Amino acid sequence: MPSPNLTAPLTTLAQALHTGALTAHELTEATLQQIQATQPYEAYLYVNRAPALAWAQQCDATRARGAMTGCLAGLPIALKDNLVTQEMPTTCGSRLLAGYQAPYDATVVTRLRDAGAVLVGKTALDEFAMGSTSQSCATSAPKNPWDAARVPGGSSGGSAIAVATGAAAAALGSDTGGSVRQPAAFCGVVGLKPTYGRLSRFGLVAFASSFDQVGILSRYVADVEPVLLALAGPDPCDTTTHAAPVFSPSPSFPLHLADCRIGVLPEAWLQGVEPELQQTLERTREELAAHGATCVPVTLPPPREALTAYQALSAVEAMSNLARYDGLRYGCAKALTQPFDARVSQTRAEFGNEAKCRLLWGSFLLTDPAGHELLCRARAVWRQVHDAYRTLLAEVTLVLLPVTPSVAFPRLDTPPDTLANADLFTVGASLAGLPAISVPRGLNAQGLPLAVQLVGRTFDEATLLRVAQHVEQPCHWSERSAAELL
Ligand code: GLN
Repeated sequence: MPSPNLTAPLTTLAQALHTGALTAHELTEATLQQIQATQPYEAYLYVNRAPALAWAQQCDATRARGAMTGCLAGLPIALKDNLVTQEMPTTCGSRLLAGYQAPYDATVVTRLRDAGAVLVGKTALDEFAMGSTSQSCATSAPKNPWDAARVPGGSSGGSAIAVATGAAAAALGSDTGGSVRQPAAFCGVVGLKPTYGRLSRFGLVAFASSFDQVGILSRYVADVEPVLLALAGPDPCDTTTHAAPVFSPSPSFPLHLADCRIGVLPEAWLQGVEPELQQTLERTREELAAHGATCVPVTLPPPREALTAYQALSAVEAMSNLARYDGLRYGCAKALTQPFDARVSQTRAEFGNEAKCRLLWGSFLLTDPAGHELLCRARAVWRQVHDAYRTLLAEVTLVLLPVTPSVAFPRLDTPPDTLANADLFTVGASLAGLPAISVPRGLNAQGLPLAVQLVGRTFDEATLLRVAQHVEQPCHWSERSAAELL
């Protein structure tokens, strides 16, 4: 049996499994080998070797009996290591949770299993999903598969690397302010942040609960759909989840691109975006127009205001969410014999610098009168951005904008400005709770992925995916292209 093409579309792999051209065991074995071969990029924190192979064998046996299998049966899927799993450890990329084994599975994990997916491992992330580089992970330094000297983006960097390199057919990440879309853009894969409430957050370790949302990374836009369908739906364990169907033709569901009105932002709004990404945006607009879409000039509150507001709001939520890491309930087993105060301070010392900065910023905002004023302003901007998007999306079907101001940047000596601006264009959809997707648009002259972002209407992922399919230009990663760059 020739080894399967691991960078083929998930839908092609599913078809091969369905027809028996490929067994789940063969696909899992090949994926585990690819995880091993691409280990230098440090995508995975934990590989679920034996249970994944056993599960695959079970899938094959079910199929051989002619019994019903789920829509993801036998497909190797990776999980960001902030989704709790009974079978594998969950560390959130933090020393604090080293050795932590959750007593239950996140709802999205249960649903992947119910759909028959083979869970191949847990992927690297910025500690507690705070960051845009994946370099604040305490136990690994993930690298961009197109140029190992560059960041894969973050915080779902490990999931993006795994998908780009064929070390998973698809992966789950989490997106609070851009953590699925930005690494997807840097690694040349598709990244969907669904509408807030579309997917259950039960078992997703909380960073900023008002914005956290589980997201999907895949190599092709069409591959998002089966995963989204398997995961979506109300969950009694998360009352923010919604029953809205994923695909339901409604009056607002445009059947042709000609029925779509695409909002395009003015040049002034895009200040600071690298020229080649501006050109990518312009070419995408032209293609959409050539397909019959109507492009309409629109505007939104300045992205920098949204970013500042997001940074404040997410820090205060992180401050309260991370309060549970006090050495009593989670983490730092070695501190357990200490008196309470020592236990708390020893546990807190285990946080990395990025998390400590956020906690300090969050406590300043919550306790200092000047901080309180800033927080009130941030709340006002949150409302403004939320309302501006809603008003806009009553007029247009979706908005076209960059994912990031730059392509993947160097891992070392990153200019502070570049770091600070990484979330400039992703936080808007997070504040507004809207679905947004990062779509690959081929490679630049240096061989680095380019991408654009589409933001859609509440619970209208269907239109977002449909339009994204018209403009996607997949990036085809291969060992050879990687070897040339290394
Ligand atoms: N980069 C953003 C931050 O560090 C977003 C992180 C995320 O979406 N989890 O806050």
